Amino acid sequence: MLIATVMDGNQQLLPLAFAIIDEETYPSWKWFLQQLSRHVIRGRRRMCLISDRHGGIIKAVREGPDFVSPHRVHRYCLRHVCSKFNSNFKNMVLKDLCWQAGSEYQLREFNRIMEEIKKQHVGAFAYLDQINKEKWTASHDGGWRCDILTTNMSECINGVLKGARRLPVSALVEITLERTIHYFRVQAIKGHKMLQNNQLWTDFACKMFISWQQKAVEHTVTKYSHSQQSASVVTRRQNGHGINTHVVKIANRECSCGKWNQFGIPCSHAQKVCGAYNISAASIVKDYYDMRLTTTPILSILNLCSRKIIGMIQIFS
Ligand SMILES: [Zn+2]
Repeated sequence: MLIATVMDGNQQLLPLAFAIIDEETYPSWKWFLQQLSRHVIRGRRRMCLISDRHGGIIKAVREGPDFVSPHRVHRYCLRHVCSKFNSNFKNMVLKDLCWQAGSEYQLREFNRIMEEIKKQHVGAFAYLDQINKEKWTASHDGGWRCDILTTNMSECINGVLKGARRLPVSALVEITLERTIHYFRVQAIKGHKMLQNNQLWTDFACKMFISWQQKAVEHTVTKYSHSQQSASVVTRRQNGHGINTHVVKIANRECSCGKWNQFGIPCSHAQKVCGAYNISAASIVKDYYDMRLTTTPILSILNLCSRKIIGMIQIFS
C-alpha cells in the first residue's frame, strides 16, 4: 500500500491518499504521483515532498514536473538516510553522528559534526558528502521541511489501519475510507475548539511562540545594522550551555540558529531583535499557522511511504 499524508499547521497528520499496488516500483510510484497531482495537489504551490530514497520514487519525482524547485521540492527521510548509512558502515557511533548532522539546524554545527565523522571514518564522510545536502539536512533545507525530518508521521497511519490485516482488498479499502473519515472528523473538532478559543494561531504555533518569547528575555542585542534590520544576539550561559552569538536578519526572515527558517515562527533571537526595532514578532509568523484562514491550516508537507501487502494480506513492516 502506498500512502500519502500531509501535516497541518498544528503538526497533526492528515492522510490524503492510499493506493494498493502489486509491487513498489518506478511505474507504481509514477502512477501514484500522477494521481496525487491530478486529484490532490491540483496546482497548489509551495510543497515539500518527503520520502525515502527508493529508486522508483526518485525517478518518478525527477521525471514528473510536479516536484521541481523553486515552488516544490523533494526531500529525503532522515531515518532512511541513517539506516542506509549504517548498513554500509555498521557503526552505531557513526549512525548517531549521521542523525545529528541531518537534524542540526545550524550550519556551523553541521560542519563541526561532519568534521567529526571525517575524523572517525573518511569513507563514511565521503558517502554522506556526496548526497545532496539540501535533501537530507535541516541546515541546508532552506526552511521547506518545517522540522519534519522523517516519514515516521506517515507510518503512524498504521493506527488508522490497525486491525485491517488479513482482510480482502475490498474490505481493506472500505475500512481505510471509514477510519480516514473518522480521523478527519476528530481533527476537525480539534480545529473548531482552537477557533472557539479565538486563537490567532494553532496550539503548536502558540506554544512555540510563547516559549521563545520567554527565552528572548535572557538575550542581549549587540551590533545593530539598521539598514538591513539585522543585529547580533548574545545568549546567556544557562543549564551548562555556553554563551552563543546569533545573527538575525529581519528582512530575510532568518537567524543563524536556523530555527526561524525551519518553523516559520521567529525564534527567541529574532523576537529579541524585533523588540529592539519595534517590530511586531507576531505579525511575521507564517500564515500556515493562522487560524483565521481556515479551520485546519495546511502546512504543505507531503509525506510518502509504503506498506507491503502480499496477495490479500497486509503486512505492516
Ligand atoms: Zn535564532
